[in-house]
Amino acid sequence: MSLREGRLIYEGKAKRVYLISNDELIMEFKDEVTALDGARKEHAPGKGKLTASQTAFFMDYLTKSGIRTHFINWDGDRRIHVRRLRMIPVEVIVRNYAYGSFIRRMPLVKPLTRFTAPLVEFHLKNDELHDPLILPEDIIEAELASMEQIMEVKSVALKVNQLLSKLLSNHGLILVDFKLEFGVNGNGALVLADELSGDTMRILMNGKHLDKELFRMGGSVKELVEAYSTLNSILGLSL
Ligand code: 5GP
Repeated sequence: MSLREGRLIYEGKAKRVYLISNDELIMEFKDEVTALDGARKEHAPGKGKLTASQTAFFMDYLTKSGIRTHFINWDGDRRIHVRRLRMIPVEVIVRNYAYGSFIRRMPLVKPLTRFTAPLVEFHLKNDELHDPLILPEDIIEAELASMEQIMEVKSVALKVNQLLSKLLSNHGLILVDFKLEFGVNGNGALVLADELSGDTMRILMNGKHLDKELFRMGGSVKELVEAYSTLNSILGLSL
């Protein structure tokens, strides 16, 4: 299926966004991988198609499970077609096991300890400040979202966690943590947006990462693309 060309309105480290109509966008996943806030950047042939297909697969599954998402369709390559939203500049992180920035701020908990209940965190989306952890009250003071919206974000994030954890565990995989982004549509409804892939989730198979942690830990682009291909074949997605 081919998607219409649009006007480039945003280019980030891993994606380009094109406007194709007043309420629809195309997200194009680049063959690039970055880590350490962009300090390490490499060309990664084949990665864009893998992260686009993973995002399409997870978003489609969540939509069919009753979550409101921005996903419309996938072009079978590096692009997905999505609804345009007013984005909330907050990264929502859900954690099932202690890892990454959690360990750095709370070294008293051993890596990969399972939490008694999933943790939901809010981080300001700001590369210069390294996406700092913020409070719901900070979000309200900055008028980024209302308390009602924050409560809904939290409850949708936990529901997404249940659905994805179950889906992955059915394939023998462990969902350690992941990042979500939300937006608001023209009717004022909260919608799950952005990406869901090895770039935004930590997924373990027998203790081995099938996610971007491989590259963050110093692994090669080849290892990363192979791990993403393994994830796709486990999930039954095209490579
Ligand atoms: P941490 O806060 O431990 O670095 O990350 C927690 C989870 O959220 C990980 O699965 C990580 O991949 C994801 N995550 C956190 N921040 C970002 C970000 O800025 N970009 C992307 N793509 N994923 C992120």
